[in-house]
Amino acid sequence: MATLTISKDEEKRVKALGFLSNKGTDNFSGRIITVNGKITAEQQRVIAEAAEKFGNGVVTFTTRLTIEVQGIPFDKIEEFRAYIAKAGLETGGTGSVVRPVVSCKGTTCQYGLLDSFAISEEIHERFYKGYHTVKLPHKFKIAVGGCPNNCVKPDLNDIGIIGQLIPNFDEDECNGCKKCSVEQVCPMGAAKVVDGVLEINKDICNNCGRCVGSCHFDAIENGTPGYKIYIGGRWGKKIAQGRALSKVFTDKEEALNVIEKAILLFREQGITGERFAKTIERLGFENVEKQLLADDLLERKQQILDAQLHLTGGATC
Ligand code: SF4
Ligand code: SF4
Ligand code: SF4
Repeated sequence: MATLTISKDEEKRVKALGFLSNKGTDNFSGRIITVNGKITAEQQRVIAEAAEKFGNGVVTFTTRLTIEVQGIPFDKIEEFRAYIAKAGLETGGTGSVVRPVVSCKGTTCQYGLLDSFAISEEIHERFYKGYHTVKLPHKFKIAVGGCPNNCVKPDLNDIGIIGQLIPNFDEDECNGCKKCSVEQVCPMGAAKVVDGVLEINKDICNNCGRCVGSCHFDAIENGTPGYKIYIGGRWGKKIAQGRALSKVFTDKEEALNVIEKAILLFREQGITGERFAKTIERLGFENVEKQLLADDLLERKQQILDAQLHLTGGATC
């Protein structure tokens, strides 16, 4: 059995930089942030070189789109960081703060209703980097999904954004066909011809947009792009399914502001050690939703950031 020489304080310090102790050894895994799971060939080359130069030559992928290089000796940590920095890469992604963003490939996916790589990069800059020193009660995870297929499970994150295409149905153009192409194309069974006219049940429709352009009589010629936001999801020791805000946002800035308000609310009203799901449960969904749709939290932003809160958060990884 190897003798462990790294003190707990040192271990804690490098963990905050994204270096996780490899159990039973003095080596660490360096967690590299990929921004949104998209890295260049050059960055891949640099990571591979760094893994051979400083680590044990092994690279692993985490479930949240970060890359870990294993087996880095403690005294090589700074050199490793400098080496990957030349390709614009950095380590991190630990602690009771906003965590690295997870994104699906909605930008290129045939079902994608939003440019998920672009929006997740924006979220990374504004909230992962921008809020990096802001201490929270626990970790805070954000995911961006391109459509309601939910491949990256946005509703199991503290906050999740899902691309939408809200069908614009023109009742005047509808002929109440016996065989309705919209009805046939709708994967949710939300569209039905009733009494000679199409009806879309808004409680069932998930705004997937598949019906847009599917009517030969142009009753659904276009749709309005939007963002659905889920809050309070989590996956792990305890599981909670996020709940969607009642409003579907059609303005990107407004949707991003909701993320910022959620972070501020969590910081201000969360109890150290609890996840956002618990905060919402304690305060009540309606109360939280009301605050996220109002301006007050952003108006008090500086005051919330300046408060001495959550000096030790609940995150253990
Ligand atoms: S969630 Fe939708 S857009 Fe994203 S990868 Fe899945 S199917 Fe494609
Ligand atoms: S939506 Fe189009 S296809 Fe469906 S019943 Fe109306 S006109 Fe016919
Ligand atoms: S947007 Fe999707 S779920 Fe809604 S009616 Fe159209 S096809 Fe059905």
